[in-house]
Amino acid sequence: MQINDILQVLPLFLNHSNAAVAIKDINGYYLLANDEFARYAGQPLNLINGNRDQDFLSNERVEKIKITELSAISKFKGVNCVEEFSMEGQEVYYIATRFPIVDEHRHMIGLGIVAMDVTEQHRSISEAERALQAAEQVNAQLREVVENLEQLASTDRLTNAWNRRRFEEAIEGEIHRFHRYGHPISLMLLDIDHFKRVNDNYGHQEGDRVLKQVADCIFTCIRKSDSLTRWGGEEFIILMPNTGLSYASMIAERIRTHIAAQSFATVGSVTVSIGVAEFHLNSSHEDWLDRADRAMYTAKREGRNRVELDATVNLTPTVNEHFEGHFVQLMWKDAFMSGNNLIDAQHRGLFEVSNQLLDAVLSGRPTDEISTIVNQLLGDVLQHFHDEEGILSELAYPRLGEHAKEHARLVSKALELADAFKAGTLSVGTLFQFLAYDVVTRHMLGADREYFPFTAIQN
Ligand code: GH3
Ligand code: MG
Ligand code: MG
Repeated sequence: MQINDILQVLPLFLNHSNAAVAIKDINGYYLLANDEFARYAGQPLNLINGNRDQDFLSNERVEKIKITELSAISKFKGVNCVEEFSMEGQEVYYIATRFPIVDEHRHMIGLGIVAMDVTEQHRSISEAERALQAAEQVNAQLREVVENLEQLASTDRLTNAWNRRRFEEAIEGEIHRFHRYGHPISLMLLDIDHFKRVNDNYGHQEGDRVLKQVADCIFTCIRKSDSLTRWGGEEFIILMPNTGLSYASMIAERIRTHIAAQSFATVGSVTVSIGVAEFHLNSSHEDWLDRADRAMYTAKREGRNRVELDATVNLTPTVNEHFEGHFVQLMWKDAFMSGNNLIDAQHRGLFEVSNQLLDAVLSGRPTDEISTIVNQLLGDVLQHFHDEEGILSELAYPRLGEHAKEHARLVSKALELADAFKAGTLSVGTLFQFLAYDVVTRHMLGADREYFPFTAIQN
């Protein structure tokens, strides 16, 4: 087909089309255009035919058209482009396709243009977009209001601490995590000492200021994952997920000293008493709070400005933890006695060797010397686990299977870490932490205590 053939058939349908249609020769001169194209070009047909775009269109439109046409020519196929311009003072939108017209030898003989007025569609799309944007904005505002309400409903206005309702919600989740993953959880109950005197001497308003400052001070001492709840008038609860009793007691001590060291305007100084308790396998949520409460009252009875740990654990300062270096100094306490002589002698021995290891580590002994102590500790642990399992088996301890499994896990991890240490790929601190803290202390004060009722009956 030659271009003249096209020119002959095209006019038959061109003026029935609501698309703007035109054909140019390869030099860019219009050979043919329909009425709609005249509208699109903003020129009468007689000024289009025989002329080029630059003869009647704005430079801006000409540039854009040129880019599309060059792209169509180089790709040898139709290229679409959205054109936006004003027509009789109105912004209009066209989607224009420009395509090469080729002969049977695939030589380009001209350029075709089909352009559709999509102003209406565009308007409705942008209206829809605007409506959507507005809806999203309203939604975001609404969300913010709901969040604020939620925040208001769950926090105490004076101190910004959680209220009881929020605490009750959180604690259920934490207990669930404890049962599911075995993550330890601790909480502390904190009560301001002689707070009634603050109110009596300086007025209720000053009392409120003290409450706020105490809460602020606690916030600076706790981690992001911990939460502060205003439990009652001048009582607070700090819930500490993933935290065992010893670490919680260290934080409690930090809070106590921080508050005691603060200066409170007009009032001077304020002290607090804190009770700390860890959640146990068989505790209920109420019993847990109760243990913290009793510890707190012990702190009051013992003179206030004190931290007391849950007495039912018999752990009162047993382990001095130097968390900066992750080192643990172990002190033997009679409360660790199981009642079985062999077990007790071995537990004690493990403490001693752990302390030797600590000394060696802290005084920077050479690796081979430390390795010797590590080997001794590992040997002692293996011997002890073996003997302990024998004794528990004789006593028909019902959870022996579980306990022995834990032994196996600890031993395999300990051997692995000891190897890594000897190979120089593990720091002595990490090894020590695991052997002395996880294997000796935590296991002894944790899993081992569960069989104490059985060994104690022996005597
Ligand atoms: P203790 O060391 O034994 O805890 O003595 P205390 O005086 O702190 O204990 P007590 O429970 O006798 O008194 C608590 C006081 O706290 C009484 C109450 O007036 C005051 N209080 C409770 N809630 C608020 C409050 O929101 N604002 C102020 N300013 N005072 C409060
Ligand atoms: Mg009180
Ligand atoms: Mg009080």
